[in-house]
Amino acid sequence: MSKDANDTGMSKEWNYHPDLPLADPSIFSWPPRPKFLVLWFARNWLMLSERVMMVILAVALWLFAYPSLETSSTFAFGWVFQIWIINIALMLVIAGGLHWYFYMREGQGKTLKFDHRDQAKGNRLWNFANQVHDNMFWSLTSGVAQLTAFQALTMWLMGNGYIPTITPGENPVWFVLALILLPIWSAFHFYWVHRLLHVPFFYKHFHILHHRNVNIGPWSGFSMHPVEHFLYLSTLCIHWIVPSHPIHLFFHVIYQGPGAAMTHTGYEDLLIKDKPRLALGTFYHQLHHRYYECNYGNQEMPWDRWFGTFHDGSQVGTQATKERRRKMYQA
Ligand SMILES: [Zn+2]
Ligand SMILES: [Zn+2]
Repeated sequence: MSKDANDTGMSKEWNYHPDLPLADPSIFSWPPRPKFLVLWFARNWLMLSERVMMVILAVALWLFAYPSLETSSTFAFGWVFQIWIINIALMLVIAGGLHWYFYMREGQGKTLKFDHRDQAKGNRLWNFANQVHDNMFWSLTSGVAQLTAFQALTMWLMGNGYIPTITPGENPVWFVLALILLPIWSAFHFYWVHRLLHVPFFYKHFHILHHRNVNIGPWSGFSMHPVEHFLYLSTLCIHWIVPSHPIHLFFHVIYQGPGAAMTHTGYEDLLIKDKPRLALGTFYHQLHHRYYECNYGNQEMPWDRWFGTFHDGSQVGTQATKERRRKMYQA
């Protein structure tokens, strides 16, 4: 923990923050850093990381839970309902499980928690005057419904051969590569959609709903206005163009839906026996929730640095961000 090591004046404002200013963990930084890239790959794909767990889950769901492409080739209520039920269950188990562990059981107290505060209650800002109930409402209604709609439509298109599909047997290299590229695609798509959502008109009408969560928790991740859900989930349309397999689609679905809970826990890592075992959120996005007009993307991608919207966690960064916001709303 970096409380005294590099006191940039931010330590009062946060319960915990990583070493500041934030380093540049972008995999696209120039010149390329081979050692860093190898470590990045190993951390994400050669260990039981968040991504590897999501791929395992996608395979399991493909084998045992979601309907087959054969079934999904003819529209019927039954199999769409089946997908919806599974997606509701995934949200309840993953977002609900994380919420239970971190906020109800207080599994690791406030260790590695960014914000001092607990989830809000008794404030009319929220539906049901309760941040968690409000967040659950938006995630489980519009969120899961639209996630299911995008997924069902894509499966119907796949089942009918209207969009290109592959099998791991015939295209093993692309099969693996596509899994590695999907989060990178998703981050690229997210950055631009997110920039659009911060245009004052879109912000005031739609994105503000997600941003009421200054102090985030697992249920905040997928809590969005229906218009934002639609834009955010349009990332799934990549499967309509680029050849993929249902496992890719399911991985992508998990990544966007329940995965959002994993990036919004409000904690940096899950500790097991006092050791960080699973990265579950970044200070990078926590800064976005506190200061709004910075860090629109995710930290592995270079866009914020390239377009001058990177906040490195220092007070200079906070001042620059506040200035940017003032200018945006002056116009
Ligand atoms: Zn967020
Ligand atoms: Zn935002």
